[in-house]
Amino acid sequence: MSERAPALGSDALRRYSRQILLDEIGPAGQQRLAAARVLIVGAGGLGSPAALYLAAAGVGTLGIADHDKVELHNLHRQLLHRDADVGHAKVDSAAATLSGLNPHIEIITHPDGVTPANVVELFGNYDVIVDGTDNFSVRYLNNDAAHLTGKPLVHGSIFKFEGLVTVFDTARGGPCYRCLHPEAPDRGSVPGCGEAGVVGALCGVIGSLQAMETIKLITGCGPALRGRLFVYEALSVQTQTLTIERNKRCPLCGRNPQITSIAAAAYQPTCTVAPSFQTMNQAEYPFEIDVAAAHQMTRESSASVIIIDVREPHELEICRVETARHIPMRQIPEHAAALPRDKHLLIMCHHGGRSRRVTEYLRAQGFDAVTNIAGGIDAWAVEIDSSLSRY
Ligand SMILES: [Zn+2]
Repeated sequence: MSERAPALGSDALRRYSRQILLDEIGPAGQQRLAAARVLIVGAGGLGSPAALYLAAAGVGTLGIADHDKVELHNLHRQLLHRDADVGHAKVDSAAATLSGLNPHIEIITHPDGVTPANVVELFGNYDVIVDGTDNFSVRYLNNDAAHLTGKPLVHGSIFKFEGLVTVFDTARGGPCYRCLHPEAPDRGSVPGCGEAGVVGALCGVIGSLQAMETIKLITGCGPALRGRLFVYEALSVQTQTLTIERNKRCPLCGRNPQITSIAAAAYQPTCTVAPSFQTMNQAEYPFEIDVAAAHQMTRESSASVIIIDVREPHELEICRVETARHIPMRQIPEHAAALPRDKHLLIMCHHGGRSRRVTEYLRAQGFDAVTNIAGGIDAWAVEIDSSLSRY
């Protein structure tokens, strides 16, 4: 963080008194917040709560990077913007809302958003980057630029009712996004740009966690989620914290990195990622398949294909695929070493969210033949076996 630490005035001491009261923050932590520069990439569902809490907490300089305009369907979750802002630039309504909340901090708007052309210089001007994007190409761009500039990247993402948070911080030995996802999902296999649907309150949970992690990074009041992936499943109200390690084969932060600079051609402004990031194994072992393909594989290659169901035991009592092995998601790290590497592992859960995390995790651990079953056992019950109970 920056070395500058301006003295706190009486207004600041009153405004922030309830967090200064915490021994772990105190006046010194508040001064660090005042001196900190945080860039929020994306003034959307995650960026809104993150920016609101960071502004209220007294982060001295907040950058907001977003090139979008406010649309009506943003308002149910993007709380920086008001009804009257529809049609106007998100950075403008974000700046107005944040300044209204806390006029003592500096808000800097970046109306071009992050682009391959500006990202390295932009990140260089900040201490911490908060990733609030829902777009795969920008997510990779943020990750690569954060690594190249040595900045911590507070990552959050949401898929339907599941959210996750982690801190990518390669400068301090942590993993990066590409350690988890060296390859991009197949075009069309993952809904992007809000296609999957989302409840605004889940954005509030995950964006607030990102703000909390940012405050921890700035003040040092607790260990950040560096090397740990926090998963929140809203429907079942279950949480998991998985340890994630740096991937020696990571194309960005591994031993032999192939990505050593931001190459403009590699980041397309779409919801999918350029095919150059896909590995050789993608064709043989796709990242994700639907239940029909999974069912066919288990029938045709039963000796070489195993379904691993990562749901909780009580969920198995409701329904299960008879041939599947069961390892709850939270036990995957301790069982990973014992999983067969000569079999194709098909990972299943309830709707396909937890199993996607497990697929990413196992691939980061060096398993190539791991594939997520999209839609999970719920889709299996609908399309393959109607005798299964749904929940
Ligand atoms: Zn990496």
